[in-house]
Amino acid sequence: MSTSDGYVLGTHKIVDHGPTSQRFNIVIMGDGYQASEQEKYATDVKAFIDLLRSTAPYTDLWCGINVFRIDVVSTDSGADDPGTCGDGSTGSGATPRTYFDSTFCSDGDTRRLLSCNDDTAINLAIAQVPAAHEAVMVIVNTNEYGGSSDGRVAKFSTAPNSAEIALHEMGHLVFGFADEYDCRTCVAGETGHDHYSGPEPPEPNVTINTDRNTMKWRASLTSTTDALPTTTNADCTTQDTQANPQSATYVGAYDGADYFHCGCYRPSFNCRMRALGNPFCLVCQQAIRDALHQFLPAESLTLTTPSIAFDNVPEGLGGVGVTTYRAIVFEVVTCATRTFRITAGPTGGFGTPLGTSISVSANDNVPIEYARLWLSYTSTTAGSTSHGTVTVQCDETGQTWVVNIIANTVARPKSAVTFVLDHSGSMSEDAGDGATKVGKLREAASIFINAMLDGDGLGIVRFDDTAQLLMPVTNVGPPVLGGGRIAATGHISGPELDPAGNTSIGAGVVAGKNALDAAQALGAPHYDVTAMLVLTDGEENTAPFLSAVGSSITANTFAIGLGQPENISTAALTTLTQGHSGYLLITGQLTPDQSARLNKYFLQILAGITNAQIVLDPHGLLTPGATHRIPFQMAETDYGLDVFLLTQSPWLIEFALEAPNGDLISPASVTVLTNLHYVQTAGLAYFRLSLPAEPAKASGTRAGLWHVLLKIAGRKLDVSSHNAVYASGSSNAQGLPYDVVIHTYSNLVFEARATQSSFDPGATISVVATLSEYDVPIDDRAHCWAEVTRPDGSMFTVTMSETDPGRFSGQFIGDVAGLYAMRVRATGSTFTGNLFQREQTLTAAVYLGATRPPETGGTQQFDWCAFLRCMINGQLIDRAAVERLRQSGVNLDVLAKCLEAHCSSKRGS
Ligand SMILES: [Zn+2]
Ligand SMILES: [Zn+2]
Repeated sequence: MSTSDGYVLGTHKIVDHGPTSQRFNIVIMGDGYQASEQEKYATDVKAFIDLLRSTAPYTDLWCGINVFRIDVVSTDSGADDPGTCGDGSTGSGATPRTYFDSTFCSDGDTRRLLSCNDDTAINLAIAQVPAAHEAVMVIVNTNEYGGSSDGRVAKFSTAPNSAEIALHEMGHLVFGFADEYDCRTCVAGETGHDHYSGPEPPEPNVTINTDRNTMKWRASLTSTTDALPTTTNADCTTQDTQANPQSATYVGAYDGADYFHCGCYRPSFNCRMRALGNPFCLVCQQAIRDALHQFLPAESLTLTTPSIAFDNVPEGLGGVGVTTYRAIVFEVVTCATRTFRITAGPTGGFGTPLGTSISVSANDNVPIEYARLWLSYTSTTAGSTSHGTVTVQCDETGQTWVVNIIANTVARPKSAVTFVLDHSGSMSEDAGDGATKVGKLREAASIFINAMLDGDGLGIVRFDDTAQLLMPVTNVGPPVLGGGRIAATGHISGPELDPAGNTSIGAGVVAGKNALDAAQALGAPHYDVTAMLVLTDGEENTAPFLSAVGSSITANTFAIGLGQPENISTAALTTLTQGHSGYLLITGQLTPDQSARLNKYFLQILAGITNAQIVLDPHGLLTPGATHRIPFQMAETDYGLDVFLLTQSPWLIEFALEAPNGDLISPASVTVLTNLHYVQTAGLAYFRLSLPAEPAKASGTRAGLWHVLLKIAGRKLDVSSHNAVYASGSSNAQGLPYDVVIHTYSNLVFEARATQSSFDPGATISVVATLSEYDVPIDDRAHCWAEVTRPDGSMFTVTMSETDPGRFSGQFIGDVAGLYAMRVRATGSTFTGNLFQREQTLTAAVYLGATRPPETGGTQQFDWCAFLRCMINGQLIDRAAVERLRQSGVNLDVLAKCLEAHCSSKRGS
């Protein structure tokens, strides 16, 4: 019966208040717990820790305590229970094989005396928690009542009040308390315990001295005048039976303590050191405080934001300001509760949207707490500034801090984007849904143009084997009728994009960069963000190549590959975009039910350029008579909203929004809401509004559950109906397919990216997403996952775990060649508890032949197809020579066939 009767699993720091060298460390281990009982062990330990934390005076000393739990497996369950004991009791006689060899009746006389091999316990504590074990405790897995402490290790069983035993035993072990009870075996007629006759005992909670001027707890006496002793036992042959003449917490000198009926005194009538279930008496509590004082961290309240800057808050739509929050932050190290309160201000027109006080308390596992008091600023007109101060006081300590606040409003940050569009010959092919690729491109580009924000610039470049600037970067202007929009739409729909020629994506990218550089060189209008959207359906086969031009790009670069990954320069475009804050999206074959995919990709990239967040993008089929109610969450962090309806003929659909308070926002609302735009154009209708939607009803038209309402035009929208979002089973198979895309402009930012270990089948595809709110990582308040569609159309979900605060990651193996479309989603709650949702689409691709040598530039790239065509097409060998070669056995027709078979597999021509 020894350590051979079990093994050690490991150690967990279950309460962490700082370095072991500076804190009071409790090390707990279990005996008589089998492997299958480790969960029970953890529960038993937690029950003890919970009791300890809620027991005075540990309550206010908790921040000075660490707890380590060592998990030990014993061969058998329970503890030794000798059949006989000197006190006349009988036991089961069991002798289970346990790691610490715990046993009842360990002194041969007292059944409840539960002991173990202390050396084993101490050595294990030293090994697992080196040089840091102020209290070593063994919890013994038996329901029989018992415990003990001998100055080295406290032992206690799992009897119903075992945790109480542990508190009592810890009093002996750590603080050197005596037992305050006035008997030893405490059976009637016990002898040898009538009158204490020894010297003054060393323990702090028992004494033979009742002189109030010299006794050891004189500083804690309740009264300066009451006679001492407080009680005297009239019959020293037995325990005193008189009631307490004073209050329960009275400190005096009560006769009977330290196992004797008379002559030794205890501070209070009762105490946990006398009988379980009582509080520690005030003398014991003071001794615990004195002992733990050295382990408490120094209290500190540190203001980490001496000034608050609402820098460059953008103007809102239609003169309605954008409201932004910032927090005054204190780093708090305390053992108590500290309340921070705004006692003056804020001056300067700033708000306190979430109240004027906040309390923080010591937590179980974080040495430092953060207290945040929120301020708000609402933007006005560009160029205006505000400043003010706010005074914060700590209720408990009286400390005050004055925080400066500054703010300014700027015009909305403007973006310039160039389209870099492939019009090589293959763009005339079917995209998969019956429309040509160039047709799909024209539709998607047109939606992008119509969705752009007034004031943003657009340039257009086309490329085949060379590149041409079709339109320099131009302000698109107001919705629908802006001059830039009309000009851009003309280029997109006109013959300039008719398919022709080879593919030099690099030439297009260089021309796109030049267009952006030219716009910035003009100085006005100034663009805060520059971006490029590259669209191609092919593999680059003509210099310059992306690998040669990529390093010169400074704009954020996004790309869309129209078609299957093996037919597109997937690797080169991935490198180009990921090196420039963007990403590549690949459409795959566009089946009819994915007809809107390219449009959605364009809108998502628009969101990426304008810093909008994607809330939701559902797809549905609207049937006559049905009203679709599509729910979506907005939070107080969101200050702007775009709701796009993508459908062939938007004028056939009644389209409205329902705010959380039930108010309906329809196209007609533009006459009363200056912060609302409604746009309807080919293939697209949308609402664009700043939040709150109705400034006079801020609480009901900003955070909360919104709905998009859709209905085939002709009957009034029924707001109260609760039809399913995706109506099905309608007898009328005819319906209008639609997609809804919801973007928000927000202080809650979600960003997802995918990377892959290679482009070969079997590659590991990793998805990483981050969430932040007012630039602070969203810690432990969100869930994130990725819905992945495999190349064969089947789906699975990748769980993304929070690896760091606000950072989520997951991965999967791309074992089948083809396209993996990932819908990365997040839900959670904001600081103030409002729900939010976000999503983003990503693609990854693996394909056969991916590891062929990359095309790295003109000098290393030789176009054998063009070379051989040139030779065959009569420019090198004339007809007479062909005939002579044939006669001598060289058939050039075979060469021509080989050439076609090889060269026609290369796309982009
Ligand atoms: Zn005791
Ligand atoms: Zn006491």
